[in-house]
Amino acid sequence: MKNCITVIVDNKSQIGLKNEHGLAIYIEYNGQRILFDNGQNKEALFYNAEQLNIPLTNLDFIILSHGHYDHSGNLDTLLKLNPNAHFYAHPDCLQTRYSLHPNKAPHTISIKPNILMALSEFADTQKHFITNATEITPGMWLTGQIPRIAADEDTGGPFFLDTDKKQPDLLNDDMSLWLHTEDGIAVICGCCHSGIINTLTHIKQRLPSETKMTLLLGGLHLVHANKTRIDATIDYLNQQHIDNIYPAHCTGDNAQALLQQHCANVHSAKAGITLFL
Ligand SMILES: [Zn+2]
Ligand SMILES: [Zn+2]
Repeated sequence: MKNCITVIVDNKSQIGLKNEHGLAIYIEYNGQRILFDNGQNKEALFYNAEQLNIPLTNLDFIILSHGHYDHSGNLDTLLKLNPNAHFYAHPDCLQTRYSLHPNKAPHTISIKPNILMALSEFADTQKHFITNATEITPGMWLTGQIPRIAADEDTGGPFFLDTDKKQPDLLNDDMSLWLHTEDGIAVICGCCHSGIINTLTHIKQRLPSETKMTLLLGGLHLVHANKTRIDATIDYLNQQHIDNIYPAHCTGDNAQALLQQHCANVHSAKAGITLFL
C-alpha cells in the first residue's frame, strides 16, 4: 500500500463533494490509518469519505490539531466507531475559548460540549494528551507545543479565554504533524495558530540540517494577517525549498493568491485531493 494523504473536508471542495469551514485530512502511512482533524458539521465528513471510498471505521489514530469547533465536530461519532484507535491532542484543547471580534457578539469556538463528553467517556488507555514532540508510529511525529519565536507571527485572531478580553488565548494546543518519506518530510497543519515559521522552525530543530521538505499541507491561518507577516511568510517559505505547498482551510484567499504569486510550487488544496508520498 502506497502512502497517501487525502483532504476529506476543507473550505473548498472538488465537484461532487461538500465543503464547509473546517478541515479533515486522512493519511495512510506504512499500513497505519490516521485521521488528522475531523471537520465541523456532520454532513461533510461522512458524505465525502463515502464518495472517496475512505472507511472511517478502522482508524489507528485520531488526531486533533487543536481545540476549535471546526476541527473537532465529528469526534463523538468517530470515537464510537473506532474504540481501539489512539486519540492524540494537547491537553489545552479542552479549554473554553472565544473569538471576540470588535463588532460582533462573543462567539464560543471551543470543542462543543457533547464532543467533550464523548471524549471524557473514551477509554483512558486510548487517550494521549501530549505537550512534547512525540513519535506516534515509526516515522510519524506530532510537534507537541510549539514555541512562539518569530517576530511577525501571532495566533491570527481575537482569541480569548474569557469574554472580558483579559486572558488572551495563546492556542498553546496548536500542533502539526510531520512524517518521513523517501523524498523528505511532509508537514500537515491544522490551523497553524502557532505560525508556520514557528512550526517549521520547531520541526527542523529536531531533524538533521540536510533534511528536505517535500510537502506542506494545511491551514496557515493568514486570513487576517498584515502585509509584514505575509511577506515574512513568503520569504521564509522560499528559503525552505519545499517541493509542494498546499495551503488550505483558514489560509485566506488573499494570502493564498500572494503565496501562489511569490512562492514556487504552491497549489490550491480542496476536499477530494489525494497526494501520494
Ligand atoms: Zn480552523
Ligand atoms: Zn483554529
